[in-house]
Amino acid sequence: MAWYSSGSTNEELVENLWRSNLITTPLTKSAFLKVDRANYAPSDPYADSPQPIGHGATISAPHMHAQAVETLLPFLLPKEGQEEEKAAARSGSSVPNVVGQAGRPRRVLDIGSGSGYLTHVLAELVGDTGVVVGLEHIPALRDLGERNMAKSREGRALLDSGRVRFRVGDGRKGWSEASPGAAQPGVGGEAAPSAAEERGDKKEEAGGWDAIHVGAAAAELHDELVRQLRSPGRMFIPVEAEDGWDQYIWIVDKDEQGNVRKEKSVGVRYVPLTDAPK
Ligand code: SAH
Repeated sequence: MAWYSSGSTNEELVENLWRSNLITTPLTKSAFLKVDRANYAPSDPYADSPQPIGHGATISAPHMHAQAVETLLPFLLPKEGQEEEKAAARSGSSVPNVVGQAGRPRRVLDIGSGSGYLTHVLAELVGDTGVVVGLEHIPALRDLGERNMAKSREGRALLDSGRVRFRVGDGRKGWSEASPGAAQPGVGGEAAPSAAEERGDKKEEAGGWDAIHVGAAAAELHDELVRQLRSPGRMFIPVEAEDGWDQYIWIVDKDEQGNVRKEKSVGVRYVPLTDAPK
């Protein structure tokens, strides 16, 4: 599949992803067009294959980024997305239903943010009020994501406004961070419990995440990440199969009542979600 979608420019790559049905919604396509992969991939930015970014990490292949965004899309779009959805429906394009509480700013966690590319694409989709946190366990890669994003005017604006933040922490524990203006919590995402959390019911409503993307293969479907999903919320996570050889994408949905559904999807190959190197 890889080489079919490669291009010689960002536009060509995105067009080929569209033609191959790897991108199927106009909103995803326009977000991919807004973010030039050349700012994030040090080599062959428009090839549909992963590229090394140092520290044993890779920027994932464009078709995997596309699949992640398409899967999470209904949990990324802000209220205004519903208008665009109607417009898209009128023009005959199919866009999934926008879910979530009307008017509530989106909160998205990108675990293993690496190059920062997907963090940027996600930020293009959540709108002006949304927040995307890119989480890395290697400080140099946290810095890389931020540096890459600062190469474009749009990226700098996202960083300056606080709508995108890159943090250092162990993604297996998730991350807890209030919306713009609030201070960063301690290492490992241990924030003081909010009033909502102390009430014990709607635990993650005050913080929590509408969408969690995991960019490295987890040994298990970490409960803590599922707990940090909002109701409703969705997680896209590659997980090692029990034989330790195969990996599959799992899509975890939490509905409005807090019921969790886990669905095994396609076979993939990601670098592992591990302890940080010493
Ligand atoms: N989405 C990124 C993928 C980078 S590769 C991109 O497309 O550029 C996976 C990343 O996961 C690596 O950068 C690696 O450092 C990070 N990672 C691995 N284990 C982690 C952990 N426990 N917590 C946070 N990040 C982790």
